[in-house]
Amino acid sequence: MATPVLKHWRTTLERVEKFVSPLYFTDCNLRGRLFGDSCPVDALSSFLTPERLPYEEAIQQNFSPAQVGDSFGPTWWTCWFRVELTIPEAWVGQEVHLRWESDGEGLVWRDGEPVQGLTKEGEKTSYVLNERLGEGDPRSLTLYVEVACSGLLGAGKGSMIAAPDPEKMFQVSRAELAVFHQDVHKLLVVLELLLGMAKGLGEDNQRSFQALYTANQMVNVCDPAQPKTFSVAQALACQFFGQHGGESQHTLHAMGHCHIDTAWLWPFEETVRKCARSWVTAVQLMERNPEFIFVCSQAQQLLWVKSHYPGLYTRLQEFACCGQFVPVGGTWVEMDGNLPSGEAMVRQFLQGQNFFLQEFGKMCSEFWLPDTFGYSAQLPQIMLGCGIGRFLTQKLSWNLVNSFPHHTFFWEGLDGSRVLTHFPPGNSYGMQGSVEEVLKTVTNNRDKGRTNHSAFLFGFGDGGGGPTQTMLDRLKRLGNTDGLPRVQLSSPGRLFSALESTSGQLCTWVGELFLELHNGTYTSQAQIKKGNRECERILHDVELLSSLALARSAQFLYPAAQLQCLWRLLLLNQFHDVVPGSCIQLVAEDAMCHYKDIRSHGNKLLSTAAAALCAGEPGPEGLLVVNTLPWKRTEVLALPKPGGAHSLALVTVPSMGFAPAPAPTSLQPLVPQQPVFVVQEPDGSVTLDNGIIRVRLDPTGRLSSLVLVASGREAIAEGAVGNQFVLFDDVPLYWDAWDVMDYHLETRRPVLGQVRTLAVGTEGGLRGSAWFLLQLSPNSRLSQEVVLDVGCPYVRFHTEVHWHEAHKFLKVEFPARVQSPQATYEIQFGHLQRPTHYNTSWDWARFEVWTHRWMDLSEHGFGLALLNDCKYGASVHGNVLSLSLLRAPKAPDAFADMGRHEFTYALMPHKGSFQDAGVIRAAYTLNFPLLALPAPGPAPAAAWSAFSLSTPAVVLETVKQAEAPAESRTLLLRLYEAYGSHVDCWLHTSLLVQEAVLCDFLERRDPAGQLPLSDASLKLTFSPFQVRSLLLVLQTPSD
Ligand SMILES: [Zn+2]
Repeated sequence: MATPVLKHWRTTLERVEKFVSPLYFTDCNLRGRLFGDSCPVDALSSFLTPERLPYEEAIQQNFSPAQVGDSFGPTWWTCWFRVELTIPEAWVGQEVHLRWESDGEGLVWRDGEPVQGLTKEGEKTSYVLNERLGEGDPRSLTLYVEVACSGLLGAGKGSMIAAPDPEKMFQVSRAELAVFHQDVHKLLVVLELLLGMAKGLGEDNQRSFQALYTANQMVNVCDPAQPKTFSVAQALACQFFGQHGGESQHTLHAMGHCHIDTAWLWPFEETVRKCARSWVTAVQLMERNPEFIFVCSQAQQLLWVKSHYPGLYTRLQEFACCGQFVPVGGTWVEMDGNLPSGEAMVRQFLQGQNFFLQEFGKMCSEFWLPDTFGYSAQLPQIMLGCGIGRFLTQKLSWNLVNSFPHHTFFWEGLDGSRVLTHFPPGNSYGMQGSVEEVLKTVTNNRDKGRTNHSAFLFGFGDGGGGPTQTMLDRLKRLGNTDGLPRVQLSSPGRLFSALESTSGQLCTWVGELFLELHNGTYTSQAQIKKGNRECERILHDVELLSSLALARSAQFLYPAAQLQCLWRLLLLNQFHDVVPGSCIQLVAEDAMCHYKDIRSHGNKLLSTAAAALCAGEPGPEGLLVVNTLPWKRTEVLALPKPGGAHSLALVTVPSMGFAPAPAPTSLQPLVPQQPVFVVQEPDGSVTLDNGIIRVRLDPTGRLSSLVLVASGREAIAEGAVGNQFVLFDDVPLYWDAWDVMDYHLETRRPVLGQVRTLAVGTEGGLRGSAWFLLQLSPNSRLSQEVVLDVGCPYVRFHTEVHWHEAHKFLKVEFPARVQSPQATYEIQFGHLQRPTHYNTSWDWARFEVWTHRWMDLSEHGFGLALLNDCKYGASVHGNVLSLSLLRAPKAPDAFADMGRHEFTYALMPHKGSFQDAGVIRAAYTLNFPLLALPAPGPAPAAAWSAFSLSTPAVVLETVKQAEAPAESRTLLLRLYEAYGSHVDCWLHTSLLVQEAVLCDFLERRDPAGQLPLSDASLKLTFSPFQVRSLLLVLQTPSD
């Protein structure tokens, strides 16, 4: 020990590195001694199946002899291995492992229960048979290993996000018993930490040298062949790590986590098994490490495990009781943060929080969305309404252009709601406990002068099985070491409480958290988007109609259980890789099946509710025309005629109510408005005019003029044409289905049509239309019918596209005769402005944005709104409104978006503000057509309205039965202020109401929220974009 130590940094450092290296000198270094004696298993046999079988069924099958080196597959199949083993008697007193290495993801079953996940990618290749083999312990065992033929990140051909390779084969490369040397493992952990400090703190830092020379000294005293030397080395480490930091040390709250995408590069069904593999591994770690806390989100995944792995689920509930397993997030799945409707976002929490309460005894206090592609400005209000004031994500660290300025801050939403928000400064939810990550967390933290706490989320995601014992050993060892931040195994609750107690100096970020990446996800997989929008509409309509039936009929049974199933299915597909379209083909197909189910069940429920509404009414048989929106509508409706044909009729239906359909034989009533005129000029152009707007289409179908008739005001920019289709090259840097890059704008190519393709469709009267065909490219074509109805303030463009492209982006543009530095876009329960220029990096990073049903470009006194029925991608640059229609990415789904598409957009010029002009209502109208439902018996003879409002600034968005089973005759109403104004609103109802009381989004009564009813009306006060919920307790109807 008296030998002088030389002062050479590099040789000293590399010497220690080689001592722990898994690659070099393993014949004589410490790593080479991690495992001692080994022996093969007695027998290995296997059974291959394309199905995902339950354990009981699988082990009954015929197993054939197998050996290490065997291949199995292909992709998405499952290989079950039976492992028969005998532990040598000589190993008594030792720690014994089954070492298993294979491709794919494995799950070990012992005595009929899952016990541990196995995956090379997640550093889980060792199953502990005995921590210390006792004299009396059984030494002969039979285990099963269920290996899924897909990896941690699916089965991409060549690269991770490439479409899965259906032919991929998998191999088992190790299956043996071995003695594990715990003392070697412990030394390796500390030596790696010391190396991390030496490198991470750098040569300017004295603690770095102390770490390096401690490690060097440990190597000097440690002889890998002489285990009795290990304790001397370990004592040196203890001395070093026993030197604590000062009071000012930053604290990392380390939480175990396993981010599992509910479907992505693998189908939903595989996620069920990913959850089991990961969580059973976490349970094992919780058993061995009582201080270890594992954080787990997504109610849907827990429900899957409850039904498929009840034993494991019980263990999770037990660990939840003692605080080691912490359900977090409060939502059904980790949903996309941009595209779901406001109501759907509320339902994510409603379904999630109720599940967590029922299954784990309490609701979640933190909203958890680490991996989602941007966050709506309405989320703070929705979170607060669902009992959550804390939010965690890290995704904005993926911003391509601007670095987000805060890690801990108050996020203020559209209505002024504020929630405490934290971005783990290490920019990851899959840390491994290295010194490098620990240091990065503090260095990156942009609020370290304001608050002294950061989150540190560790564990492999996506089926990697979450944390490992090694990660835990690292973090535990780091506890409180001079030179590093303090590391605590902690929980979200403890982190946020610490942040709250020091939040006085925090900054506030107002408005949306826009992710400057993945802007292609507003458009990719157009059929999923369309399914999402349509199913949101269907569930809205079913709930309203069923509520009205409940109110009018004592016999009607509200379909609460069915609606819960359908909602959960819709919410499932709002997961952050499904509705954004960043999933593989198998998932897209599943999503289409889910939407089909919601449509068919939803339509049946609509008929049932309509039948109940008609019951007992003395009218003629026929159709019931239903208006599910909270204002009176007069519209042209296509009524079905016997034999499958349709006839057009102008119908008026009161607010949230119904009217009898005009008999098909009756004469149309005199139309108060001007009928639609359709004129084709000799040059082939067509003019449509309904007295409100006059539309002129050039001979190729482009919009050469759009005039607001009353004022004569032209909406199309001078010398320009609207309805101009444009194609762009769309080749991102990597994330194909996710990203559209700024440079795609430089490849803009207008699609020019053939002259004389425009023809008159419907000749006028109640409706006028013109249509045309457009060849987009040699492989893709488009047809469009441009439709104008009597009395309608907008012109609709019904579009059909046969799309067969690679890496092309189709948009449609409308240059407006409007000048404004900002445009308005609809979001959940409201709208916001974004710039129309590229002044600063924050402005041009938003070259492609998302919207819901409408966008608007207005100047003082006039504007142009663009409405849509199933699109989300959009932009307004300068005076050009542009709607993103179709993309053609090839990964991870090689066939994404190929084939036939149908969608509608509409254009509405208006005077005054978009609010006063009724743009919001028009967009609702486009998305919620009047329903003509067959009445089984006599239809009601008179029109009827359930609800109406005194101001157009407020929208009654949702009417449904209250969730609480005891409140079966109570309705829940949700209303929001849509204009951005302070307003008083009278809600009028024809229903017999006993009591009205305000509640939160989870339908918990506000103790001070009683609302007095006078003349069947009640008064509500709103601030801008405020969403209010109330319960109406109904009187029992007399039938
Ligand atoms: Zn994810």
